[in-house]
Amino acid sequence: MNVTLIGLGPMGQAMVRSYLAAGHEVTVWNRTASRADELVAAGAKRAETVVDALAANELVLLSLTDYQAMYDILAPTEDALRGKIVVNLSSDTPERTRVAAEWLAARGAEMIAGGIMVPAPVVGTEGSFVFYSGAQPVFDRIEPALRVIGRPDYRGADPGLAQLYYQSLLDLFLTTLSAFLHSAALVGTAGVSAATLVPYATELLALAQSMLDETAKNVDSGTHPGDQANAKMMGATADHVLAASRDAGIDTALPAAVKEHYDRAIAAGHGRDSWSSLIDAIRSKA
Ligand code: NDP
Repeated sequence: MNVTLIGLGPMGQAMVRSYLAAGHEVTVWNRTASRADELVAAGAKRAETVVDALAANELVLLSLTDYQAMYDILAPTEDALRGKIVVNLSSDTPERTRVAAEWLAARGAEMIAGGIMVPAPVVGTEGSFVFYSGAQPVFDRIEPALRVIGRPDYRGADPGLAQLYYQSLLDLFLTTLSAFLHSAALVGTAGVSAATLVPYATELLALAQSMLDETAKNVDSGTHPGDQANAKMMGATADHVLAASRDAGIDTALPAAVKEHYDRAIAAGHGRDSWSSLIDAIRSKA
């Protein structure tokens, strides 16, 4: 299938190049038209208007900052969406994604939501994968074309699902990266370089990775045997990390949030249970 791509930030540009390399005809449109120049030189077709871009192909991919950008671009196009399959690969909340699917359906278009799990330079390579959700028959029809940008991973009919997987994994990713920076800031108060920390951090992250299966088993079964690392012992450590950060004069928001999970789990009677019992505190709002 030939494709229309709307949104030519780093991600949209990477997708266009992947489609061109795979021999697809690609029509492009971007609010700032000059961002299409290099792609047009590389073989993409420039649409002068959004309506022209929609008219060019049945399959329309959106790569925008958020879902509001989709409304800004598509709302004025009136009937041009009828019969289109819109694959929205922009980041936003699952709820806004569901609302957008209904908005498009009311205009005669089908929406498949996508969440790209790799940075732009990895798009189109073997390591690239993308979560999708939405009506399965529609997904099945366009799946071969979607394979060009990365391995498609279909999660279900609810359009919000791809976004939920995406945000859950980004939650893990961003928190882990901030935790590394916080850890570097803490050790850095003694003049230690971040590079010195890297081999130790690498070992610790491997340890955390090795704990995921057991943790998931506890979370899914709702049982948290505390014979090894219980919440009380881990909570004392969380308190020490917070106090050390405070003494060092660095930001305390992240360790304070972690300690708060332990405090609530212990207050709820989970002190002797595994630290995985914090899931109950995390599931309920503070
Ligand atoms: P941006 O998030 O900066 O997306 C920029 C694109 O959105 C541009 O084409 C921009 O147009 C357009 N845009 C934003 N707001 C509007 C608006 N109100 N009206 C019209 N167009 C608008 O860059 P990326 O390409 O990096 O990301 C695209 C999506 O992909 C995002 O949702 C991001 O979270 C996701 N993603 C990105 C990754 C990456 O490595 N870059 C990795 C994984 C996911 P203009 O050029 O005119 O400003």
